[in-house]
Amino acid sequence: MWTATTIADLRRHRLALKGRVAFVPTMGALHAGHISLVEAARGLADHVLVSVFVNPTQFGPNEDFTRYPRPIERDLAMCQAAGVAGVFNPGVEEIYPSTIPPCDVNIPSMATILEGAIRPGHFAGVCRVVLKLFNLVQPNVACFGQKDLQQLRVIQAMVADLNLPLAIQPVPTMREPDGLAMSSRNVYLKPEERRHAVGLSKALAEGRALIETIGESDPARVEAAMRQALKAHHIEPDYAVARHPMTLAPLDSIDVRQTHGAALLVAGKLGSVRLIDNVVLESANA
Ligand code: AMP
Repeated sequence: MWTATTIADLRRHRLALKGRVAFVPTMGALHAGHISLVEAARGLADHVLVSVFVNPTQFGPNEDFTRYPRPIERDLAMCQAAGVAGVFNPGVEEIYPSTIPPCDVNIPSMATILEGAIRPGHFAGVCRVVLKLFNLVQPNVACFGQKDLQQLRVIQAMVADLNLPLAIQPVPTMREPDGLAMSSRNVYLKPEERRHAVGLSKALAEGRALIETIGESDPARVEAAMRQALKAHHIEPDYAVARHPMTLAPLDSIDVRQTHGAALLVAGKLGSVRLIDNVVLESANA
């Protein structure tokens, strides 16, 4: 497995690859969720490339950019064990040379809702770095986790609208045995917070049961129940919503048997740690 820290090295390695390339962009601090993306990628192409880059433009001024975990040696060992062909691990100046005036890439309809409302500029930062990485890596397919559903929808929209020549493969969320979605940020949780963190997936399960078992169709009732479940687990909710599964726009009513289905999305804080989770309820007609 090779590692490239410069764009020149990456391009040289990329040119030498014959066959299909699948790409897994990450911010490192890899866990089994990331490795499930690599495994999905291996099934889709001849070579898997991973990027490890903690992208400053997607962090707000009061977010955890500087303290974000960066265990690069461990990440490289995990990539090697998972059969990755090469890792791109550039520094910030390599991706954002201070001499180039920045480009603005954005999906306005998604930029100011949910995560975008709480993290202004976040998705512009995500789009800009992912578009750069796509141009550098030139993959045939790229894998993204459903764990970050809004990010997945933003990337799918960018690829479709800009006619980018690659496929986007969504990969299901990997969870801890108690249901907590795996996340690089879980390491910040104190033991008591870790116990409460199960409240995110519990809230989603309650929302899902209301819709699928009881037949609740009023989004407001589902949202109130999920918000209550978060609070019962000492999680301060940022949002707890039922939305259209593709556009993430509000729904007038939920009927997963008749319609496009629904996405339930929750976000909240446990102490200083902010966690998100979601579940997509497929339509029976999908
Ligand atoms: P990150 O390193 O957090 O930027 O995540 C890199 C990729 O891994 C993104 O596509 C995430 O959605 C995905 N990912 C993160 N956590 C999980 C998980 N628990 N299960 C599946 N994919 C995940």
